[in-house]
Amino acid sequence: MSDYDFDLFTIGAGSGGVRASRVAAAHGAKVAVAEEYRVGGTCVIRGCVPKKMLVYGAHFAEDLEDAKQFGWDLEEPKFDWKRLRDTVLGDVDRLNGLYTETLENHEVTIFHERAEITGDHELTLASGKVVTAKYILVATGAEPARLDFPGAEHAITSNEAFHLDEMPKRVMIAGGGYIANEFAGIFNQFGSQVCIVNRGDKLLRSYDEGLSDRLLKISLMKGIQFHFNTTFESITKNDDGSLHVTMNGAEEMDVDCVMFATGRTPHTKGLGLETVGVEQGKIGEILVDEYSKTNVDYIYAVGDVTNRVQLTPVAIREGQAFADTVFNDDPKTVDYGCIPSAVFSHPQIAAVGMTEGEARNKLGSIRVYQSDFRPMKNVVAGRNERGLYKMIVDDATDKVVGIHMIGPESAEIMQGFAVAVKAGLTKADFDATTAIHPSMAEELVLLK
Ligand code: NDP
Repeated sequence: MSDYDFDLFTIGAGSGGVRASRVAAAHGAKVAVAEEYRVGGTCVIRGCVPKKMLVYGAHFAEDLEDAKQFGWDLEEPKFDWKRLRDTVLGDVDRLNGLYTETLENHEVTIFHERAEITGDHELTLASGKVVTAKYILVATGAEPARLDFPGAEHAITSNEAFHLDEMPKRVMIAGGGYIANEFAGIFNQFGSQVCIVNRGDKLLRSYDEGLSDRLLKISLMKGIQFHFNTTFESITKNDDGSLHVTMNGAEEMDVDCVMFATGRTPHTKGLGLETVGVEQGKIGEILVDEYSKTNVDYIYAVGDVTNRVQLTPVAIREGQAFADTVFNDDPKTVDYGCIPSAVFSHPQIAAVGMTEGEARNKLGSIRVYQSDFRPMKNVVAGRNERGLYKMIVDDATDKVVGIHMIGPESAEIMQGFAVAVKAGLTKADFDATTAIHPSMAEELVLLK
C-alpha cells in the first residue's frame, strides 16, 4: 500500500495531463486530476479544435463564391455567426464530456477545482481538502499573453473570440504569429475588416520566408490590412462602444474589437511551485529534463507549461512518455526532431524540417526545389491565388531536410510527406514515386 492518497496527482486536464493520467492509470497507478476550468484543455475547449471548426465555417465564404464558376446558381448567401458559434460550442461540450468519460473509464478521480502544491508531496484543493501524492505532474498549459498599456483591458484574446456576441465589423489583431494569421483569415471570411498590428516586420517568424511572404501577399489581396513595426499606445472606449486605438508607427483607428495574439505564457502562477522550490525559467516556464522531470525528484511537468514546443501532439507525447517512464518502468523520451506543423490561415501553411535559411546555415551546400503554381480549383474559380511548395535537400546526402507549403489543404498533404522527411528519404526516393494526377500533392514528386 502506498503511503500517499494517490500515486499520481495531475494538475491540469488538458491534452498532456489527460494522456499522462489515463496511461498512468492503465499502468496500474491510482490517479487524480484537478482541473479548474473544463476537461480537455486549451486545444479542445478554446484552441485547435473549435478554431478549426471556425476555419471550416470561414471557408464556405470562398467556396460559395467559387461555386458560381462551377455552374452553381445560389441565392445571396447570408452568414449567421451565432448559429456557427453555438454549433461549435455544442461540439466542445460533447468533447468535454468524452474527455471526462475517458478519465472516468480509467478510474481517474477528477477534482473540478484548483489545486496548489502546499508541501512535500502535498496539495490543497480550492475546497480546502488536502491530498498527498507520490508523484505530481504539472500540466497546466499556457494562457494568452496580454500586452500592457493604457486601455489594454479593452482587448480580448482568442479565449473570448469563441464566445463573441456579434461578429465585429472592424477587428484589430495584435501579433503576427499563428493565432493572428488564423483569426485574421476567419474574421476576414466572415466579413469583418481586419487589421494586423505587428511589432516587427515579419509574419510567422519560424516559417520559411517564402511562405510568409506569400501569405502576406494573398492576405493583402483579400483586403486584410497590416501595420508592421508598430506598437500600441492606448485604447479608449468611444461613446458608441467602439474602441479608439492609438499606435506608434500607424495612424490612430476606430475598431470594434482588439484581439491580442502575442504568444502564450506558461500557466504557473499560484501553483505553489515556490513552496517546494521547483525551478522556473524567464517567462515562468517549468524547467525539466528529457524525462520531463523538474529539479524536485517527484514533480514532473509536460506540455505548454514547460514552453518546449507549444503544440498539442507534442504535449500528448510528453504525457505518454512520462507515464511509461514513471509507471511502467519503461524510460522514454520525446523526439523533438522534424515536428511537422501547420497554420490554418487562408490559405493554409504547413512545414516540416529546416527552412531554407536554417539549412544554409547548418548544412552549407543545399539544393532548393520550388513549385509556384495556381491550383486547378483556383484556375476554374478565377481565383488568383498561387500555391508555393519548397523542398530543401542536403547536397551531400541527397536527403530531403525540409518541405514548406502554402496552398489549399497543405496541412492534410503535409502529414504524409512529414513521414518521408522524418524517415530521411532522399530526393531520388521522391523522384522514384509516381504522381497522383491531377492533384496538388503531386508537385512534390515532380520537382525539377
Ligand atoms: P506566436 O508565437 O505564433 O506569435 C506571437 C506574435 O506576437 C509574434 O508576431 C510576436 O512578434 C508577437 N509578440 C510577442 N510578444 C509581443 C509583445 N510583447 N508585443 C508585441 N508583439 C509581441 O504566438 P500565438 O499567440 O500566435 O500562438 C501561441 C502558440 O500557440 C504558438 O506559438 C503555437 O505554438 C501555438 N498555436 C499553434 C497553432 C497551430 O498549430 N496551428 C495555432 C495557434 C497557436 P515577434 O515575431 O516579433 O516575436
